[in-house]
Amino acid sequence: MRFFDVHTHVQFAAFREDFQDVISRALENNVWMVNVGTQKETSEDAIRLAHEYAEGVWATVGLHPIHTEVSHHDEQELGGGEAAKSFTSRGEDFDFDIYKKLASDPKVVAIGECGLDYYRLLDDSKKKQKEVFIKQIELAGEIKKPLMIHCREAFGDLIDIIKSEIVNLKFSSPGIIHFFSGSKDDAKILMDLGFSFSFGGVVTFAKNYEELVRYTPLDRILLETDAPYVAPVPYRGKRNEPAYVAEVAKKIAEIKGVSLEEVAEVTTGNAFRTFSL
Ligand SMILES: [Zn+2]
Repeated sequence: MRFFDVHTHVQFAAFREDFQDVISRALENNVWMVNVGTQKETSEDAIRLAHEYAEGVWATVGLHPIHTEVSHHDEQELGGGEAAKSFTSRGEDFDFDIYKKLASDPKVVAIGECGLDYYRLLDDSKKKQKEVFIKQIELAGEIKKPLMIHCREAFGDLIDIIKSEIVNLKFSSPGIIHFFSGSKDDAKILMDLGFSFSFGGVVTFAKNYEELVRYTPLDRILLETDAPYVAPVPYRGKRNEPAYVAEVAKKIAEIKGVSLEEVAEVTTGNAFRTFSL
């Protein structure tokens, strides 16, 4: 059995001391992973890490919506100390050429995480978020790699943008909506547009996800940890890591009434297909 954690962040500061052990634990447990970039530095770090492994570790590059404007500082992501002070209020401009160069690396399997986040809007940054998201859709279209989408409290605008830009994404799997938190109606529209969903630790403890997991066909489901955040039961409250993705798979198998082997096989197959591996 092989599991594929399609959305994790082992390149983040939270793993600075032991990222090699964390990755070894995952690989020994047959867990492959994609380390997802959130801004320029974490995108570059994800690529560097992927190149240290012959197989089983890939990267995405992108600019997260919360890093486009007055920026939320996360010590688990960027580190503490002096770095925290200098980064706290920095917003990044999306430099298409720099990201295009990064995205062309053979270890890069998707563009993102990109999208819209209206939950933590510190000022009126919706316009900038939308512009930066559209540029990343254009990049995905140009280099023919799928999107890794983050969306929080913004599904109406997200769907409008995807519909108007979908001509750029004329390949079989346009992308993954990670940590999906929209409605069943949103899910239906996004599936009709070709998108899949990655579910993480939250499905192991939030009952309201069960209906959504039941509703989504297994061939549109991928597994994620979003480590270091949101560890699944029985690791809640601890730092999350890719090896724990098996707990997510177990819960999905339970909700769907299928075997763990089937969840592993289908979701890993979905990852290979989406990322053209
Ligand atoms: Zn993430």
